[in-house]
Amino acid sequence: MIVTKSRLLTSILKPQSKIAFPSTLLNVRLKSSTALPDIDSSKLKVTMNSELKKKPLNKDLLFGHSFTDHMLTVEWTATKGWEAPKILPYGKLSLDPSAVVFHYAIECFEGMKAYIDKQGKIRLFRPDMNMNRLASSCKRLTLPAFDRKQFLECVKELLKIDKSWIPKEKGYSLYIRPTAIGTQNSLGVGPSNKALMFVICSPVGPYYKTGFSAVSLYATRDYVRAWPGGTGDAKLGSNYASGIRPQIEVAKDGYQQILWMFGKEDYVTEVGTMNFFCYWINEQGEKELCTPPLDGTILPGVTRNSILSLARDWKEFKVVEKNITLPEIKKASTENRLLELFGAGTAAIVSPIKNIRYNDFDIKVPLDPKDPKAQAGPLTTRFAETIMGIQYGDINHKDWSVVID
Ligand SMILES: *Cc1c(COP(=O)(O)O)cnc(C)c1O
Repeated sequence: MIVTKSRLLTSILKPQSKIAFPSTLLNVRLKSSTALPDIDSSKLKVTMNSELKKKPLNKDLLFGHSFTDHMLTVEWTATKGWEAPKILPYGKLSLDPSAVVFHYAIECFEGMKAYIDKQGKIRLFRPDMNMNRLASSCKRLTLPAFDRKQFLECVKELLKIDKSWIPKEKGYSLYIRPTAIGTQNSLGVGPSNKALMFVICSPVGPYYKTGFSAVSLYATRDYVRAWPGGTGDAKLGSNYASGIRPQIEVAKDGYQQILWMFGKEDYVTEVGTMNFFCYWINEQGEKELCTPPLDGTILPGVTRNSILSLARDWKEFKVVEKNITLPEIKKASTENRLLELFGAGTAAIVSPIKNIRYNDFDIKVPLDPKDPKAQAGPLTTRFAETIMGIQYGDINHKDWSVVID
């Protein structure tokens, strides 16, 4: 199949090559993009695990602590392209100590979840967005391109095999961690001539076990998460590595998360590892939901995109992607125009914010004006319930919830 296809493409491209490309350049292009095999789910090789693990009880689940019985791996080399994907017993990888991932952090990942619906079927939430984002993170690191649909088909096969690991209670799910690494065995700094993609899965409970718990943020001046021309819009392990120390420092002072700022204007960018949302009455007196634009410093979250899209459908208030500064938020708070602030991401869906430490000032953020004990505002709660409803198939959505048969 692959041989015929590539021959066909070669013959289509050849006549043009005389006009468009010098022949050497064309050969390189053909070799790297069309002649080599891509990921093909029909070639998947499955080796079942004969020693199945004991599953933790739902009540004992800690985020990312236990893993299912199987994993998916797909290897790539610059000379042979993508090899046949494999599902194997979950286990250790064997890598050479010179593998570039250990030296130059050529690593990116995804975070997505599988849910069990009322009919007992497996569902994914907008998995195409995760595949596209993984491909763009790979591109940023010069890791190879891959057939996203075929890779997703392989992930679905893994989920079918480990289906019994997906917790059934509402709020519980299977966290899926697709990962791509450079595995070239040499210290030269350049595109890796070998790569590995693997997928591991971990059963997880609801982020908030006993209802929401609003967080207090610290707007840091000492550290920056992302900058123009940097890698803030790609899901790279290296972005996370540098955020841990700042997080520990603010946690010592009793703040749960960092509010990342950028520039002398103190633009808000993200909250910890979540996108930032502000619901307020703007200077013109209109109710408005806003979030920073995807200018290269913001991670294009699936949850972010879903919230914007739902809010635009509802047409109940203005929805804008724009830069927001801390002084503007502070001013809105003192003028009683601030309605709700929250973070958004796959782990928690939404995370309500109750306070921001900014310079020597505490910006108090309202939660629910009608209920002094509430830990989330009405709009924050509505986004959480709507998205969760779609994820578990309780609310129909024509393309966001994908059933695996
Ligand atoms: C993953 C991530 C998010 C959230 O993205 P989702 O697709 O909604 O889970 C936000 N910010 C950063 C920095 C992230 O890494």
